[in-house]
Amino acid sequence: MAITPETLALVEQMRRAVGSILDSITRSLVEAWVRAWDQMAVEVAAGIAELLQVGDGQWPSRRQIEQTARAMSALEVIAAALARLAALVRNLTVAGAAEAARLALDGQGELIASQLPYGSTLASAARYRRQQPDTVDAIVRRTAERINSSRWPLADEATAAMKRELIRGVVVGDNPRTAAARMVRNLEGEFNGGLTRALNLARTEVLDAHRQAAEIGQEDHGAILDGWVWHAELHRGTRTCPSCWALHGTVHPLSEPGPIDHQQGRCSRTPKTKSWADLGFDIDEPADVTPDAREVFDSLPDADRLAIMGRRRLELLDAGAIEWADLPQLRTTPEWRDSWGVRPVRDLERIAKQNTA
Ligand SMILES: [Zn+2]
Repeated sequence: MAITPETLALVEQMRRAVGSILDSITRSLVEAWVRAWDQMAVEVAAGIAELLQVGDGQWPSRRQIEQTARAMSALEVIAAALARLAALVRNLTVAGAAEAARLALDGQGELIASQLPYGSTLASAARYRRQQPDTVDAIVRRTAERINSSRWPLADEATAAMKRELIRGVVVGDNPRTAAARMVRNLEGEFNGGLTRALNLARTEVLDAHRQAAEIGQEDHGAILDGWVWHAELHRGTRTCPSCWALHGTVHPLSEPGPIDHQQGRCSRTPKTKSWADLGFDIDEPADVTPDAREVFDSLPDADRLAIMGRRRLELLDAGAIEWADLPQLRTTPEWRDSWGVRPVRDLERIAKQNTA
């Protein structure tokens, strides 16, 4: 029942550890992408220069492009580089997922012990409970399967986008060098689009592996738990979205997976023990110290409240036209698991109208 200051400190510590896994994956991927592009830029520029000649004042046709050796070899180099990068993304994500899952699994005992009477047998039993040895392997296997599924296209999509860019061509002005430079920039933009997708994939999958392991770890202590608490990063303030702000502190049954927040969402599930009375302790239980999200939000400076909500959403909220609980919206898509995200303002306007009608 009682989430203590120690529980919150442990949650924070685990979050930092997961954050540093995510940061190191991000750094590695950004570096790899920059290096790969630097190696390709010369090849790409040469290909474009030749295309400008082939077209003789016009951007060449698709057919002409496909017959231009330099352009085709540049595309092949790009496709090969993207395939190598995709393999790197897979390896880093799987390794990061294993580490994040291990952290979550190992951490549940301490999180639970921090809510029980100090020195009690129940607290030490929670702390030293052995985990199933193959849990992390099973989670990582599922992560690898998901990365290989069509839901996360990596190399193919970026290669196709760059080919489209090449065929769409440039408006050839009187300066072929400017046109070539512009084309290189466009292609670099597409190439970096692949990086954006890769980062989203890696971060989302590592976080989900972390949550799944927490869920399994909490099941092992099921007999003394009352459920789990949705924990958002309130101290990140303006970097936490309205949906996560509103879901913070909600309590869910242990059997419910989650928190199923949006892609790259960093919310976590904190185990919540049964009350001390229910666990057979005849001692007064300290109060739960989980911060109340609405109170924290209301105490922020106006500029921060505005940055989190946006102008109209904040107006509706401050006027009492919508409820705090109206902010999140469950999304269902065939491509991904269900997830909670921010309800669009136009839907909030509709809710506000219904409330006043
Ligand atoms: Zn969020």
